[in-house]
Amino acid sequence: MLAKRIGIDLGTSTVLIYVRGQGIVVNEPSLVAVNRDGTRILAVGRKAYEMVGRTPDGIQVVRPMRDGVIADFVVTEGTLHYFISRVQGRQRIFKPEIMICVPSGVTSVERRAVTEAAISAGARQAWLIDEPLAAAIGANLPISEPRGQAVCDIGGGTTEIAVISLSGMVVAHSVRVGGNKIDDSISAHIKRRHNLLIGERTAEEIKIAVGSALPLREPLSVEVRGRDLISGLPRNVTVTSNDVTDAIQEPLGTIVGAVRSVLEQTPPELASDILDRGIMLSGGGALLRGIDRYLSMHTGIPAAVAEDPQTCVARGTGQALEHFEVLKRNQLYLR
Ligand code: ADP
Ligand code: MG
Repeated sequence: MLAKRIGIDLGTSTVLIYVRGQGIVVNEPSLVAVNRDGTRILAVGRKAYEMVGRTPDGIQVVRPMRDGVIADFVVTEGTLHYFISRVQGRQRIFKPEIMICVPSGVTSVERRAVTEAAISAGARQAWLIDEPLAAAIGANLPISEPRGQAVCDIGGGTTEIAVISLSGMVVAHSVRVGGNKIDDSISAHIKRRHNLLIGERTAEEIKIAVGSALPLREPLSVEVRGRDLISGLPRNVTVTSNDVTDAIQEPLGTIVGAVRSVLEQTPPELASDILDRGIMLSGGGALLRGIDRYLSMHTGIPAAVAEDPQTCVARGTGQALEHFEVLKRNQLYLR
């Protein structure tokens, strides 16, 4: 049996692992339960998610990649250890080659830390790839051509936009706005409009059930339960897709602003390629209804959602191990 080639997408919301020949083998919330002083890891992923809101005093649940930066090295290393050994299973004679996707805002010290964590977790070789490049590979864009390719990955904590040519990022920009900020806007709107407090998960459920970037011709609606701000008692309200569209314009505007700023910094030849080829959307946020039309309306360039956008980066990260020119040109690498 050959050594495994593993791609890990360490996202702000989700950790995904792609193994060549097997596809996506891990898809879990990026959460870790640790003891009070953060020195011991108690649970990772789905098990940690089940503890959210139900933890006794001595336990806290944290995100290893808050806002697209490494929150805590011990936690990040623990997460990698846990998932790498799970993917390895009992077959540990051959150490795996591992490619890890990190947000492009991660500092060089943090990059080194992640690579070291992967080595200490059992990797034979560890490489890093920037998220937009992984997204482009996952979306099957011909990244090695001397032509501009634009990608926009809307994750939980961040949105990353980049223009790629000849297997490298020419311009890149990331903003700390993504699905979580969209959820926050929905909660704030419901609080203002209906005097009702709803939890983070409820806000996300509303977004997924009826959220839309543009008003829908046939509006959707959903019944939600929250706590009345005045009486303190549970109460139901009906929320429509048009309410949500109004509520989320501010975070969507920030994403549009970030896309425009990347386009403004793009050299003219590449900008002209992008006008022809458009921008590819990935990440869970790309599943928001109408986000492609919204972005093309506000930037003037065509936008398309990648196939299975939420696993796009993970697949691209795994596939990058086969792209020699990507490995050669871009990546920090340790062995
Ligand atoms: P990350 O890479 O930061 O871990 P993901 O790419 O997994 O993030 O995207 C997570 C975000 O996608 C969350 O904010 C989640 O609410 C959002 N999301 C997932 N499904 C949908 C959907 N159907 N519509 C809108 N947003 C969605
Ligand atoms: Mg991501």
